[in-house]
Amino acid sequence: MKIRPHHLLCIQKYTGHGYDAAFTAHMTALVSGLSDRPQTRVTLTKGCDALCLACPHNIDGVCTSLEKVDKMDAAVLNACGLSYGISAPWEQLARRAKKQIFMTGKEETVCSGCQWFSLCRETETTYEP
Ligand code: SF4
Ligand code: SF4
Repeated sequence: MKIRPHHLLCIQKYTGHGYDAAFTAHMTALVSGLSDRPQTRVTLTKGCDALCLACPHNIDGVCTSLEKVDKMDAAVLNACGLSYGISAPWEQLARRAKKQIFMTGKEETVCSGCQWFSLCRETETTYEP
């Protein structure tokens, strides 16, 4: 499964809220699938990914907030010591992102431009580092 780096965070913080009904249904299924199968192979991808597929902000394969999300992706890679193209089990990448970002408070800068920030701040993640 292709996942863009900052979605390592968003998937862990998901509480059922999304951009519209189709996106939320898709994300609910994706998050549930990764929870049921944490060994799912994930490849860190530049650009639209498995989650973006059903997003209303995905126009012909390009995010309408490209500059903002590219910056978040780069910040996640930098904080986690990861790079595009790396493949690993979902659980391993999720734990790394939790340890390097949520447990160090780096989401305060990584996520600061996101509309969901106040909601995610109050959401506990389930993956242990
Ligand atoms: S604040 Fe935004 S970027 Fe950060 S985890 Fe939540 S939804 Fe993802
Ligand atoms: S807002 Fe952009 S990065 Fe986020 S899910 Fe939609 S298309 Fe993907």
